[in-house]
Amino acid sequence: MQLNFDNRLLRELPGDPVSGPQVRQVRGALWSQVAPTAVAAPRVLAWSAEVASLLGLSAGDIADPQFAQVFGGNALLPGMAPYATNYGGHQFGNWAGQLGDGRAICLGEVIAADGSRQELQLKGAGPTPYSRFADGRAVLRSSIREFLCSEAMAHLGVPTTRALCLIGTGEAVVRDMFYDGHAAPEPGAVVCRVAPSLLRFGHFELPASRGESALLRQLVDFTIARDFPHLDGPAGQARDAAWFAEVCTRTATLMAHWMRVGFVHGVMNTDNLSITGLTIDYGPYGWIDDFDLDWTPNTTDASGRRYRFGWQPQVAFWNLSRLAGALAPLFTDATPLEDALRGYAEAYAAAERATIAAKLGLAECGPADQALMADLHALLQQAEVDMTLFFRGLGEHPPGAQALQGLREAFYDDAKYHAHAGAFGAWLQRYAQRCAQEGSEQARRTRMRAANPRYVLRNYLAQQAIDRAHAGDLGGVHALLEVLRHPYDDQPGREAFARKRPDWARSKPGCSMLSCSS
Ligand code: AMP
Ligand code: MG
Repeated sequence: MQLNFDNRLLRELPGDPVSGPQVRQVRGALWSQVAPTAVAAPRVLAWSAEVASLLGLSAGDIADPQFAQVFGGNALLPGMAPYATNYGGHQFGNWAGQLGDGRAICLGEVIAADGSRQELQLKGAGPTPYSRFADGRAVLRSSIREFLCSEAMAHLGVPTTRALCLIGTGEAVVRDMFYDGHAAPEPGAVVCRVAPSLLRFGHFELPASRGESALLRQLVDFTIARDFPHLDGPAGQARDAAWFAEVCTRTATLMAHWMRVGFVHGVMNTDNLSITGLTIDYGPYGWIDDFDLDWTPNTTDASGRRYRFGWQPQVAFWNLSRLAGALAPLFTDATPLEDALRGYAEAYAAAERATIAAKLGLAECGPADQALMADLHALLQQAEVDMTLFFRGLGEHPPGAQALQGLREAFYDDAKYHAHAGAFGAWLQRYAQRCAQEGSEQARRTRMRAANPRYVLRNYLAQQAIDRAHAGDLGGVHALLEVLRHPYDDQPGREAFARKRPDWARSKPGCSMLSCSS
């Protein structure tokens, strides 16, 4: 196994003079040298063929016993230089100070087969200076969720960090899943994250909060040069403004994708938002079953529901505003930052219109179409209708009131189906009139198939795979990974993976309720 490392972040940004995992405040530095802590019996439980091939790794490399040793954290390859990075963040609206990679350790930056740069990071690799009160480890259930969802999102066309592999550690990790005093040992695991950049909003907020303007300056210059090379040019306010504006538009694009596929991140703290617009940090996330803009999977957020489905675009704006505040010291006046934030609102509005057009199969979305979608959303929510099944089904039947029969399986509640059938019929009639103004029925269907997935990582499917894995059978993880590689295709024989949430999963832990304990 050979990987070509070029560890630019280590080379170009200041590091902590102290090394090792003892917990501390790290000032004036963006990373600390720290090695993964070895585990008892690392074993490859699953891996992504696409990410392996991106990195130039073959099936033979994965099967080599050295692979589990390296990606479980027991050995380093030549060129690897492990480190944890230093960041802060606003958690649930409050400034939390230094957080940092408390259980994630970067191994280095690989120059991939396609010439791209890919940072490798082990999540759950043991204590770092940023572990605070915790153990630096991750449990199997949350690692399966991160592994599967990273890959599912990538195949859906949603910007995301990737996952190379899932390694069982052969060690137990103790967790109190619902913070109710019932701590129990669970199997431990390590996921290898892969992304061109793992920088978060919080990396910029921390030096700003400490008045470390020179460090902040260095980080911005580095980020533009490494992660936004098309903007690299003469340093100055114009370049920095163009960069922040792009961070805003990328974030807007990301939010539109999440809303399109029904993904709820669950913990959109500023330390969990990527500066390059990737989905990062898969924790208590969830997928929308019955359409509900107010739903959050995160039990820790159950009271305020700050991170509910329908709020995600506004929360992203709030987070970008915190980032703008952090960057302000680099600007002589705030106008470019304010313009970029306005640019976010405009970019999101445009992306939302594009999403409406695509989900309804229209060439373009005008004001009347926005109303059409808003009315549909209200109906879906009132009548408790499965988001994925409904939109996919809508594209498979000729538009008109008669389509409702074919959409019946998307309804969770018979009584609500009957109560709302008239309203749905009327909506479908309106929709049919709108479609009649469009070109071909074929074009409508093609657009809808490309925007409305057949298969998403439904919460209960992930939990079933986890339950099997706990019993020693990884077959459920592998089967899901395989289905989710082609989310927009009909996959004959795999209909079971496209079904709506069964009743038993309605309020089962893991299926609709998740805690941050991972
Ligand atoms: P999260 O809620 O996963 O985004 O994590 C918030 C902060 O807590 C980050 O700094 C994490 O690195 C840290 N953290 C979460 N879980 C652990 C753990 N088991 N050990 C050490 N640090 C952790
Ligand atoms: Mg985090």
